[in-house]
Amino acid sequence: MPPLVDALERGSISYGAGSRLNAFNGGGAQRSTGCAPMRANLDTLPMPARHLISHYAPEYYINFRKPLALMETARGCPFKCNFCSVWKFHDSTFREKSPDRVVAELAAIEAPNVFITDDIFWLDVRRGEELAKKIKEAGIKKYFTVQTRTDIICKFPHLIEMWKDCGQLSIFLGLESITDEGLDAVNKSNTAANNVRALSILKELGVGFTPNFIVDPAWDHDDFARLRAWIEETGAYNSGFSVLTPLPGTDLWETARNQVTTHDWEMFDIIHAVLPTKLPLADFYEEYSRLCGMCWRCATACAARRAPTSPWGRRSPPARCRSARSRRDEHRQGVQQAGDVPQGARTAGGAADAANTAVLTPGPQPRTGRHQARISGRPAREPVWTLKCSPRATGRVSEPRATQTLGLRSA
Ligand code: SF4
Repeated sequence: MPPLVDALERGSISYGAGSRLNAFNGGGAQRSTGCAPMRANLDTLPMPARHLISHYAPEYYINFRKPLALMETARGCPFKCNFCSVWKFHDSTFREKSPDRVVAELAAIEAPNVFITDDIFWLDVRRGEELAKKIKEAGIKKYFTVQTRTDIICKFPHLIEMWKDCGQLSIFLGLESITDEGLDAVNKSNTAANNVRALSILKELGVGFTPNFIVDPAWDHDDFARLRAWIEETGAYNSGFSVLTPLPGTDLWETARNQVTTHDWEMFDIIHAVLPTKLPLADFYEEYSRLCGMCWRCATACAARRAPTSPWGRRSPPARCRSARSRRDEHRQGVQQAGDVPQGARTAGGAADAANTAVLTPGPQPRTGRHQARISGRPAREPVWTLKCSPRATGRVSEPRATQTLGLRSA
């Protein structure tokens, strides 16, 4: 950033050597000024000036938790997932702050919740152990949310135990796929067995987790059904779902750039299909919204219960989440089984009652060509999930617009 500011002050970014910057030259073409020299030692970075943004604090939260502080302890990733820009941006390097520096930054954070933004936490196992020890010695207790891989959890479960001593812990996991073929297709260098085992370890240790899956536009109804069944089986109800999106700069972009169906970059938000779908587009979004709705109903019911290790942790998921079949049957019979409603949720303004009656209701196919699918009967504080389809300039039947809060795309 300093070289960029210097260059702008000089009035010409062409002299902004050291900035990784693409400049528009007025004709739409782009120009690169080259890579900035790497700052090898992250400890030389200034301490974050958190007081400058303290007035924004009430606006930020993660998994319903706030006040929240973000903190970076390392940068980069050595893996090479084809949809991910992290390793490209950092040239496959991985750099980290020293444990002493991390503890000093943590000590300056007032918020009880800390989201560690590292793309892959605990990559350096010895450092992860040392960090946990030093945080504990410093008497710091926070609710930590981190992002990591399932193979790391399987190989080093003792790290999770050590970090539990630093307060509470919740983990974002880029599971991406429930099959080895799916993982190979995105070059994840991981296995489906690791994904299952990591969730078991976390459940056993009482640690919350938020998996994220990639939804491939090439899926048919069976693929969606298989993932739904997997979620039912593992109890991974707090999952997020990203539509496979070739982001410019990634390996996936290089292989799929000629197939993209739009160059409206607003659509490249990982909740829209920008590659051709195997199913009719409306059916694809119907399936996608069903997947998201299945998890959000359960996640919000859990949040209403104020479970200490949400999602699930040591607790069982709400009874409503255990069987999709029983939910379907109840809807068919029009039966409300009051005994299934989590107690905490009932006391929270009847939120779970509303969630339990939630159904995915595609709106009518209107004459205007717009339609809307939404979860009705949602509790007042539940995140809104809407999916709207409207005619767009591409000439396809309809180009959907969707808004949803999703998990992060890394690790
Ligand atoms: S998705 Fe995660 S593991 Fe894969 S390259 Fe990106 S940061 Fe690394």
